[in-house]
Amino acid sequence: MVDLLSQYEKIQDQVDQAITNVVRSSAYINGPEVKSFQAELEEYLGVKHVIPCANGTDALQIAMMGLGLRPGDEVITATFTYVATAEVIALLGLTPVLVDVDEDTFGLNPEQVKAAITDKTKAIVPVHLFGQCADMEAVMTIAKEHNLYVVEDTAQAIGADYKFTDGSQKKAGTIGDIGATSFFPSKNLGCYGDGGAIFTNDDDLAKKLRIIANHGQTVRYYHDMIGVNSRLDSIQAAVLRCKLPHLDTYNTNRRKAADFYDAAFADVPELKTPVRAANSSHVFHQYTLQLADAVDRNALVEYLSSKNIPAMIYYPVALHMQKAYQDERYQEGSFPVTERLVSRVFSLPMHSELEEEQLTYITTEVKNFLKNQKS
Ligand SMILES: *Cc1c(COP(=O)(O)O)cnc(C)c1O
Repeated sequence: MVDLLSQYEKIQDQVDQAITNVVRSSAYINGPEVKSFQAELEEYLGVKHVIPCANGTDALQIAMMGLGLRPGDEVITATFTYVATAEVIALLGLTPVLVDVDEDTFGLNPEQVKAAITDKTKAIVPVHLFGQCADMEAVMTIAKEHNLYVVEDTAQAIGADYKFTDGSQKKAGTIGDIGATSFFPSKNLGCYGDGGAIFTNDDDLAKKLRIIANHGQTVRYYHDMIGVNSRLDSIQAAVLRCKLPHLDTYNTNRRKAADFYDAAFADVPELKTPVRAANSSHVFHQYTLQLADAVDRNALVEYLSSKNIPAMIYYPVALHMQKAYQDERYQEGSFPVTERLVSRVFSLPMHSELEEEQLTYITTEVKNFLKNQKS
């Protein structure tokens, strides 16, 4: 699905040197690389504060903790997402309130968000799934009207631009009160292990988030809040500093691969290619298609696998149908769009290093399978 080795080889000398420098400096924790990366990412995103942390799940958890949410508070998020989003809500004793998504963009449905708001609602967590922003203009309008926090889960959309109707533009993750991202190796900006970060333009909130990520301590051994231990390693920060200048190129390469797939599948009635939202650029963390009902998805995935083409199902089960998240408020049928999507979506290889030859091979084999099915 991803080719991290080819990507590394293109910047190998620089990365090797950067890692060696950290090892030789012995500043493994909170070294200067972390501070430099923080400043460079702030600059890239056009956001006042970046708080690096250990991974994307922590980023989401620290964000919720920073908002001072209390057990029983309700947090609205999409049922079509990676589990981390709901996991941290549940872990903190908050109540996840799920809504369905838009069948074209996979972003949470603003009408359903509105309908889900109660006296207990405190926050909305839009997920920028597969690399394009949810309908943030609508989300921000609703949040303002009801005085709710917005935490963007931008683990899959770093570098995407969102355009408002007044023409202004912001980077994914810098629109709401807080953005949370992940530097997991396969993400669009990935390190060589785990990593994550939180973004905010709010000075007070930034201070609090930094304290929470560092055991709740303001001065060493003085703990004003209950916090967590969540740090970005210096080595990972050094790797990210090498890769950040290439992020836009990586995302452009992903878009080019997506263009190739789009064109190859344009005349294939069994496939619905990803719909690009009018107000968000797409950084294609995943290239996710919808397969017509008549086609056997498992057979397609197996066929591709037999041709050495990895195809993945993101995600096979909606959150409200997961064992751990069973809830009497939701049953099968509660969220028809997501329930249909989880049975029909599949994702093809997507990364910054895809060559035309590979793309031709992949698209040809997908079409071969569909032709054989018909005959
Ligand atoms: C990857 C991901 C996360 C979690 O990131 P980790 O670094 O793996 O903890 C959260 N939300 C979404 C949507 C993700 O894709």
